[in-house]
Amino acid sequence: MLCLSLLAKITGVMKVFKFGGASVKNAEAVKNVGNVLQNYGGEEVLVVVSAMGKTTNSLELLAKAYYQQDSNKHELFKEVKRFHDEIVAGLLITKDSQTYADIENLFIELDCELENAPDNNFDKVYDQIVSYGEIFSSRILSAYLNESGIKNRWMDAQNFISTDNTYREGKVDWENTSLLISKKLKPIVKKQMVVTQGFIGRNKENFTVTLGREGSDYSAAIFAFGLDAEYVTIWKDVAGVMNADPKKYSDAIKIDAISYPSAIEMAYYGATVIHPKTIQPLQSKQIPLYVKSFLDPEANGTIVGVLKEVESLPPTIISKGNQTLLSISSKDFSFIVEDNLSTIFNVFAQLKVKINLMQNSAISFIVCLDNEPNKIEKLMEHLGSAYNLSKNEGLELLTISNYTNSSLEKILSGKNILIEQKTGNNLQVVI
Ligand code: ASP
Ligand code: MG
Repeated sequence: MLCLSLLAKITGVMKVFKFGGASVKNAEAVKNVGNVLQNYGGEEVLVVVSAMGKTTNSLELLAKAYYQQDSNKHELFKEVKRFHDEIVAGLLITKDSQTYADIENLFIELDCELENAPDNNFDKVYDQIVSYGEIFSSRILSAYLNESGIKNRWMDAQNFISTDNTYREGKVDWENTSLLISKKLKPIVKKQMVVTQGFIGRNKENFTVTLGREGSDYSAAIFAFGLDAEYVTIWKDVAGVMNADPKKYSDAIKIDAISYPSAIEMAYYGATVIHPKTIQPLQSKQIPLYVKSFLDPEANGTIVGVLKEVESLPPTIISKGNQTLLSISSKDFSFIVEDNLSTIFNVFAQLKVKINLMQNSAISFIVCLDNEPNKIEKLMEHLGSAYNLSKNEGLELLTISNYTNSSLEKILSGKNILIEQKTGNNLQVVI
């Protein structure tokens, strides 16, 4: 018996667990994370955590206020501090402990940073401020777990995830990152549970670079790739990956198993359950991903991976709200062909505007975009001199897959369809 359990420990299964903002939104929620992790004490686990609740949104406001030197920056800072103080108090973290002092010191550090003159690159400023959310949450979670007997070590994700200088949308230096994770982090995780942060990395100049909003899933995948983890679990407040948004479709069901390519497509088209960049690193090493509920940790959830059987998915409906259609036609009656298209695409690339759907005819080109007013305004400025532009806002983009004719009829009945496009077994409509 003893030999067997020793063996189990030595050949332990390395796993990466990701907990998002909702899973640590208050003291009760953090305690629940403790309950989930209790079953894994002494195992090889890397815990990746996001900022608590809506902290990232609050810190975005703070970053803006600091950059513009608004007088309300102090009030915004205090709000963030109050929110975390309440959680720390609810977790009964010992006041005269080193960890308590560490958490307090982090707030002092941020407060001091707000007194410095801001750099003139807003995106850079944003990353230095907003990244505190993950540092706070991971410090608090780690301290709470240690005090509850779930021994773990806190580590700074920035020491392992190395990026370029694209602030707010950091591109990972895979070679360096994999090396750092496998050489420096893996031996530590083999000995002890580690708590670290999602969303953040560091560039060669030693500044923090974030990986894009909701990027903590992606961090979990990066770590799993470098660790050669056995599997990744994303712990959510939903049962798993659903075939439609249960808030909008009462007959939505959970998908038990889904292949990597289907999961990539779903995430890409706007299913918010997994960040789109998460799957590819996992797929490349065939590391399975579980999406499970932190409210019902024993339940099966969804597995994303290589399927043993032929994939059979229910009809899936992915909705992307807040869409804008922009119609572009030439002022000189020329056709929208290669010359015009290349000019138009260049402007999109320059302004980093992502196209969700496009359609062209002889004299016009229509694109469906996320409604980001600043970007669209700039886009219209750039294109306005040579093209006639018209904009239609407040739309929804539906991507429907694996449908039957009857299910499609039901989904689309009563909807005013502005654009329709079919590729393979995907139907996309703008309504
Ligand atoms: N805290 C970050 C955000 O809210 C990253 C994440 O939650 O995944 O965008
Ligand atoms: Mg979040």
